[in-house]
Amino acid sequence: MMEELLSNTQTSFEDIKESYTQVCDNIKKVLSATGRSDKVQLMAVTKTVDPERINYAIDLGIDLLGENRVQEFLDKRDSYKKAEVHFIGGLQTNKVKYIIDKVSMIHSVDNARLAQEISRRAGQHGLVMDILVEVNIGEEQTKGGISPESVRGFCAEVLELPNIRLRGLMTIPPPGCSEKIFAMMQELFQNIKAEPPQNSNEKNMLFDTLSMGMSGDYEVAVKYGATIIRIGSGLFGYRKYNK
Ligand SMILES: *Cc1c(COP(=O)(O)O)cnc(C)c1O
Repeated sequence: MMEELLSNTQTSFEDIKESYTQVCDNIKKVLSATGRSDKVQLMAVTKTVDPERINYAIDLGIDLLGENRVQEFLDKRDSYKKAEVHFIGGLQTNKVKYIIDKVSMIHSVDNARLAQEISRRAGQHGLVMDILVEVNIGEEQTKGGISPESVRGFCAEVLELPNIRLRGLMTIPPPGCSEKIFAMMQELFQNIKAEPPQNSNEKNMLFDTLSMGMSGDYEVAVKYGATIIRIGSGLFGYRKYNK
């Protein structure tokens, strides 16, 4: 597959700044319209973005980056400023070892083997890794993620692992789906938060994160309780390849 690493290079710094201001304004509007008083964290999704533009985004005040390709992340990370990074992409079990000590959260945990490997590798580094369980809320056949009815059981399974702390849920709703899907996700999140699995305790669970919303749907996501929105093209411009 041909991949162009630096495909957002036409986007000017001015464009990034303008988009950032716009996204922040839109978030504020939705927060006040829905009466939410808590905060939403804006994550800059930096796949295919060159270090110069990443550094510019950091200078604008963005303090959280999302990377979703292991190799690209490893190649790039030393050339941008220190910032908090979450891993948000599909993660193969055999790649966990490369990122385990370089990210502060993994958003895309959707199978037991992956969770076990994260816990094992975290233990080797003396770490406890924060994770989100990825939910296939649209129940799309082709997508990763745990089906909504299995989420509670899977969370309980993850909570058995010694070096993992369950922080919440993540989802990628089907493009153009109805608001009902976002509402379902919010309900699922709130249900588990209100009634945590019995094997949870203050060490293995801090259920405060709902990672939902991308460039095309972040306003709806904020309306339905997202605490992290993941914005790529809406900040940096379009990618030549999409994932
Ligand atoms: C690429 C990506 C995003 C950002 O998508 P945009 O539509 O460009 O904002 C968010 N989340 C995940 C998991 C991604 O892979």
